[in-house]
Amino acid sequence: MTLDRSHFLVGGEWRVPATNETVEIVEAATEKPLGTAPLAGTADVDAAVAAARAALRGPWGRTTGVERAEAMRRFAAALRSRGRETSELVSRENGMPRALSLGANGFSPAITLDYYAGLAGTVDAEDVRPGMLSRTSVRRGPVGVVAAITPWNYPQALAAMKIAPALAAGCTVVLKPAPETALDAYVFADAALEAGLPAGVLNVLPGGRSAGAHLVEHPGVDKVAFTGSTAAGRAIGAACGRLLRPVTLELGGKSASLVAEDADLAAFAAALPEVSLANNGQTCHACTRILAPRSRYAEVVDAVTDTVRALRIGDPLDKATRIGPLVSAAQRERVLAHIDAGRRSGLRLTAGGAIPADQPTGWFVEPTVFADVDNAAALAQEEIFGPVLVVTPYADEDEAVALANDSQYGLGGTVWTTDVERGLALADRIESGSVGVNHYGLDVAGPFGGVKASGLGREMGPEGLTPYIAYKSVYLAPERTP
Ligand code: NAD
Repeated sequence: MTLDRSHFLVGGEWRVPATNETVEIVEAATEKPLGTAPLAGTADVDAAVAAARAALRGPWGRTTGVERAEAMRRFAAALRSRGRETSELVSRENGMPRALSLGANGFSPAITLDYYAGLAGTVDAEDVRPGMLSRTSVRRGPVGVVAAITPWNYPQALAAMKIAPALAAGCTVVLKPAPETALDAYVFADAALEAGLPAGVLNVLPGGRSAGAHLVEHPGVDKVAFTGSTAAGRAIGAACGRLLRPVTLELGGKSASLVAEDADLAAFAAALPEVSLANNGQTCHACTRILAPRSRYAEVVDAVTDTVRALRIGDPLDKATRIGPLVSAAQRERVLAHIDAGRRSGLRLTAGGAIPADQPTGWFVEPTVFADVDNAAALAQEEIFGPVLVVTPYADEDEAVALANDSQYGLGGTVWTTDVERGLALADRIESGSVGVNHYGLDVAGPFGGVKASGLGREMGPEGLTPYIAYKSVYLAPERTP
């Protein structure tokens, strides 16, 4: 049985697509058809933006924070009740191991919605500030219609990181998910209908690049929230710059794990699969560069190699699996091309490097480690978006920090040391939007985003709400004393 979808959610109703274009979603581990979904054309995007604008002008645009929080909590509950099924569906679509998908796709959207429901009241709270001349009433309202464009790697979590603050601020949303994970996007549509979100507040239409580009430039859109590749982010940023349209961009990464001389290598190795290879390496903040002190270099290479060789590769639906397949045949080709280039340039391969012999079906790639990699090498500079790690030696802490920062990206990073103060000091020196000390874990309460080519702006935390708010200062005349 396949999970076919044939309509878009537009204006609270199931809309018949304007074109016949569809995408077949293929299960990453079995290469069998999973279902089909329609792909939006320009007329569909126009209809979705019109519906979102109508909803903004309707009662939703006049709701209080308390009312929006109630709607968001109902929406969260509807998502939560589907959490297990959703996590399995995403694992089938993109190969994410189930143990990770359960939290990242199954339950994090509801957590994010509940978190921002808790902040919705701050949007319309009274805020009159005494100033130098008089008083200023700071008014906050929704920025307007939001175009939310998401990739396939953490499709549920990344969509929720846009939908939740947008709804809390009173915005309306057009969600355009990636074609590869079009099916799970319908969970948002089903849950929105079940929760009784007013018509047009959330519109869902899968589409390709051209539908995304049309949405970004649409005159009816007030703000763009994008997660995806740096190349697409640059194109979207350029369009938004020309239009002077607010935009948040969550883009690629090539983060470093800085292993200090005093690191607990057992703890580092235990966390390595999660920190460096989560979702089969298809994670924007994965620490795929390991910076190792020369004094303990062989020990670190052995720890990384042994850990990676021991990872269980297999069916992503099996909870014991640590490495599943990549999302598509094309993605596997890209990753294998990077590995081949590394091999041809004479780099020392210590683990993996091939398609696993016992996984002839599905887009699997063995988790792979190259040692002695110069940080200037392509393998250390380019985002591979697969299970490929490089180990690079450093002489002292200054060199380690310089290597960590010698990247076009700045999204994640970790520092491994038994001296937490030292870890914090090193974290401060790393040019990145987030760094973990002896751990890495995104948290709904903390702002997440990149510097340099990793993006613009932040999602999550109270900071993630601000881009969805339009501020207006109303200057009040000084009060006269009788
Ligand atoms: P992608 O950029 O190809 O596509 C992402 C989304 O944008 C898709 O929905 C796609 O249809 C759409 N799109 C592509 N080009 C567009 C354009 N010119 N205009 C409008 N929409 C367009 O990325 P991908 O391959 O799906 O995802 C992988 C990338 O996403 C990696 O680079 C990864 O690092 C990045 N990513 C970043 C974060 C983060 O938070 N920083 C999180 C996850 C993934």
